[in-house]
Amino acid sequence: MFNLGIIGRPNVGKSTLFNRIAGRRIAITDDMPGVTRDRIEVETSWLDKDFKLVDTAGFDLQADVLKKEMQEQFFKAIEEADFLILVVDASVGLHALDEIVCDMLRKCGKPFIIAVNKADSNAREQAINEFYKFGDVEIFPISALHGRNVDDILDYIYTYIPEKEETAE
Ligand code: GDP
Repeated sequence: MFNLGIIGRPNVGKSTLFNRIAGRRIAITDDMPGVTRDRIEVETSWLDKDFKLVDTAGFDLQADVLKKEMQEQFFKAIEEADFLILVVDASVGLHALDEIVCDMLRKCGKPFIIAVNKADSNAREQAINEFYKFGDVEIFPISALHGRNVDDILDYIYTYIPEKEETAE
């Protein structure tokens, strides 16, 4: 089944987006940044296509190295995914780690988009614009909390999900 992975630094809103796309509350959201949790996955659908949605534990920068456990989960998620949503935080702006991950994804050729989350006010427009420097990557300003523009992401990814196979009767 098509595997859609959600990755991003802790506290950017991955769980909130996961729940929004899944259409129900499954993942544990936590206000404490850096909280390590296991990956969570759910089978869901958009229009007539089914896919598996995977929320990984966040990757974080600790003393200049990615925490080993997070790093392993992070690379596993990237490997397994057919498509990735890199979630970033408009209230923080362009973070050095976002740039590193973005460059890495481009190099390994995995299809992905950047969801600039918490874009719930015009005041965050400037932070959002910073992400347009990744010229060849689709940028979607969204609010996972309020559901703003989340459908646009799913409409975009829809074209990547293979048609359902006809089952012989
Ligand atoms: P995760 O660690 O990346 O999974 O982040 P969470 O989904 O747990 O969210 C971290 C915090 O950001 C929570 O307090 C959420 O309510 C908040 N949050 C998530 N999405 C949005 C959003 O679109 N706008 C705002 N203002 N806050 C959000």
